[in-house]
Amino acid sequence: MAVKKIQKQLFGTNGVRGIAGKEITPELALNIGKALGTMRPGEIAVGRDTRTTGPVLANALKAGLLATGCRVVDCGILPTPALQYIVKEHYDGGAMITASHNPPEYNGVKIIEPDGTEMGDEETIELEELLSKESLPVKLWNEVGTERAELHRVEEYVEGIIKQFPGKPGTGMTVVVDPGSGPACQTTPAILQALGCRVLTINGVMDGTFPGRLPEPSPEGLAGLAALVKASDAAFGVAHDGDADRAVFVDDRGVFVEENHEFALIAQHLCKITKGTIVTPVSTSQLVEQVANKEGCFVQYTPVGSIYVARTMRELIDAGTSVVFGGEGNGGLIFPGHQFCRDGGMTAAAMVALVSASGKRLSTLLNQLPKRYMVKEKLATPHGKVIIEKLEKYYSGEPIDQTDGLKIKRHTSWALIRASGTEPLIRIMIDAPEKETADVFLSEIKKSVLKILDELA
Ligand code: MG
Repeated sequence: MAVKKIQKQLFGTNGVRGIAGKEITPELALNIGKALGTMRPGEIAVGRDTRTTGPVLANALKAGLLATGCRVVDCGILPTPALQYIVKEHYDGGAMITASHNPPEYNGVKIIEPDGTEMGDEETIELEELLSKESLPVKLWNEVGTERAELHRVEEYVEGIIKQFPGKPGTGMTVVVDPGSGPACQTTPAILQALGCRVLTINGVMDGTFPGRLPEPSPEGLAGLAALVKASDAAFGVAHDGDADRAVFVDDRGVFVEENHEFALIAQHLCKITKGTIVTPVSTSQLVEQVANKEGCFVQYTPVGSIYVARTMRELIDAGTSVVFGGEGNGGLIFPGHQFCRDGGMTAAAMVALVSASGKRLSTLLNQLPKRYMVKEKLATPHGKVIIEKLEKYYSGEPIDQTDGLKIKRHTSWALIRASGTEPLIRIMIDAPEKETADVFLSEIKKSVLKILDELA
């Protein structure tokens, strides 16, 4: 049982991640390759982001796949959504070596299913059970796998996005792209150029030491992007995280666009074109629901994690529901007409189409959104589960939602309290129409938590 528990903690909602050479070793990558090859025998695509530890981990993982008889297709360096797109089109599965937004010393693995989505919980537990076995059988000389490189496949992903936006909507528009020295250096500038944009880049050379900024596209890290947007009179700037499944923006004034506002703006644009449902986790600002409702659309909430959003979108579509759009309030947006995963390159292209169709400046469009304020805080405690159970009773007189953690809905505000699955802490989020309400609500929740902690002590 103990081994299983450790293994269950290995994969989080977005794969396995840790410090390369310490937590994420070549031995672990080899074993993941063997487990995946045992579970999904067939043609498996392997890709990686630009991290310096990418080659060693990719080679170890490929060795595991080969040892179990898989036909390995090396897709080289490319964005996670690009690997997802080409797995969906061509292969029986995939493995992406990436640590997404984490600092340069980190790395990890995301497993991709044949339909291009990230591996779900049940399948991941099955994979972890294989990983926990002492040794997995490997093939003899006449049954080992083969390897070939298909580095050109990334172009199919670029073409796949371009064909979604006919008529060169970016004509006459300058856009600055900050791929953060990541794999989108070879995709997003090409996509936006094909849409007709004049494209300038910053941190546009692939480099796993990330000399310009960290892989997390934070407002501080994007100061260079903001300056270049202003200096070049660009329509906006777009930046990606380390594997380019997320896109964040700075507006024409060089101001960072909060990701829930980005989501709301794109949702508003798409809801004007198509009516139906928007799918998003309970942690997304009510702003999205406000703009969707105004356009005659609805919001379906899911647990926190893009895989739950993607799977819910598919289920709704299979049940005959019109699904407009989905995603998370962190710049990870999912366009169902393209593919069922977060896609930073697609999001950048969608913003070009949106600004072009509006005929307005991005800052003007943002100003026209309803005002909304979000505040987040972490509290260190090992008693996360107990605190949430007690809070449920404490707030039972108010409308609550238990899709993920505890969401307390009060007038036009909400509070969300969740226990971390991997760290001894709880996360509190407040979403309100103005800062004062959010601050008051936050201090009230914190007081309740501290009271519970006192009782537990
Ligand atoms: Mg990412």
